[in-house]
Amino acid sequence: MAENRTGRNIFAPKSVSELLSIKQQHPDTLLWAGGTALMRQQNIHPSFSKDIIQLSGIRELKKIRRTERYLEIGACVPIKKILNVGQHVLPFALSEALRSIAPPHIRNRATLGGNLCCRSRRLNTYSVLILMDAILEIRKSGKSRWVGLNRLFTRKGKDSIQDNEVVTRIRIPLNVWNLQYFTAVGDPFYDPFNAISFSLLMETHKGLISQVRFAVGNIGKTIVRSIDFESYLTEKKLKLRPKEIDNAVEYFKKAMEQTEVLTSFQKERTIRFILWFLHELRDYNLFTE
Ligand SMILES: Cc1cc2nc3c(=O)[nH]c(=O)nc-3n(C[C@H](O)[C@H](O)[C@H](O)COP(=O)(O)OP(=O)(O)OC[C@H]3O[C@@H](n4cnc5c(N)ncnc54)[C@H](O)[C@@H]3O)c2cc1C
Repeated sequence: MAENRTGRNIFAPKSVSELLSIKQQHPDTLLWAGGTALMRQQNIHPSFSKDIIQLSGIRELKKIRRTERYLEIGACVPIKKILNVGQHVLPFALSEALRSIAPPHIRNRATLGGNLCCRSRRLNTYSVLILMDAILEIRKSGKSRWVGLNRLFTRKGKDSIQDNEVVTRIRIPLNVWNLQYFTAVGDPFYDPFNAISFSLLMETHKGLISQVRFAVGNIGKTIVRSIDFESYLTEKKLKLRPKEIDNAVEYFKKAMEQTEVLTSFQKERTIRFILWFLHELRDYNLFTE
C-alpha cells in the first residue's frame, strides 16, 4: 500500500480475490480503473476525499473472450485494446462509440468498466450497450451476480453497485443487427447541455424493418428511448412514406416531453437526427451492414 500526495492510501491489488477482500474491509474506497473520468471530473469537483484502489495491476480484469453467442470484456480492458483485439468482431455501433471516447492517447488508459460506471452521468458506450442488452458481472467477496446494464442505474441515476462490490466483466450478446449507427458530439463533462449521442440498431428483412432500437444519450443521469416509436416502425417498409415519418417523429416528441433530461437544443437536434435517418433508410450506404 502506498500514499498519494494528499495523504490518502492507495491499494494496488494483483488479483480479483485480493481486490474483493480489500473492498470488503474498506468499502468506502474509490475504485480507480484508468482514472480518466475521475480526473476529468476532478477539474470540475476538485479533490479526492477517499482512499483509492488501483485496478490496473489485475490481469484477470483485462481479458477479452468471444463465444458464438457473445463477446465478454473484462472491466479494465483499455478502450484501445478493445478496438485493436476486437476489430473484426465488435458490433459496428459499439466500435464507433468506443472511438468517440476522448482523444486517442487517453484511450490507452480509459476502460470500458470506467465508462459504464461513471456515477455522475451516462457516458458514450452506455446507451449503445443498453440497446445491445449487455449484462455486467458484479462481484463481492464470496459472491457474484449478473445484472442487465439497464438495471445498473435507476431513472434518477442512483447506481445499484454496493460499496463492497466491483464490476468485473461486461457480456455483450452478438445479435444480428444489420443496420447500426452511433454518433456523438460535444464533451459530456464540459459541455453537458449540448453534448449528445444517438445510438441506432435495426434488423431488416426483405425491405421491412423487423426490429428497431434507438436511444439518445450523454445527457445526464439517464437516456431517452421511446418504445412507442420503436413499435410504430416495426414491420414498416424501409422506404417510409412521408406521413409515416411524421407519425414516428410525433411518437419520439411525446417521449421527450415526458423527460426533463434534454435541453431544448438537444431536443431540436434529436428531431433533426430522426428525420435524417428515417429519410436515409432508403440508402443503405450510410450504414454498415
Ligand atoms: C480529455 C478527456 C476527454 C474525454 N472525453 C470523453 C468523451 O467524449 N466521452 C466519454 O464517454 N468519456 C470521455 N472521457 C472520460 C473517460 O476517458 C472515459 O469515460 C473512460 O472510459 C473512463 O474510464 P476510466 O477507466 O478512466 O474510468 P475511471 O475514471 O477510473 O472511473 C470512472 C468511474 O467508474 C468507477 N469504476 C471504474 N471501474 C470500475 C469497476 N470495475 N467497478 C465499479 N466501478 C468502477 C470509478 O470508481 C469511477 O467512479 C474523457 C476523458 C478525458 C481525460
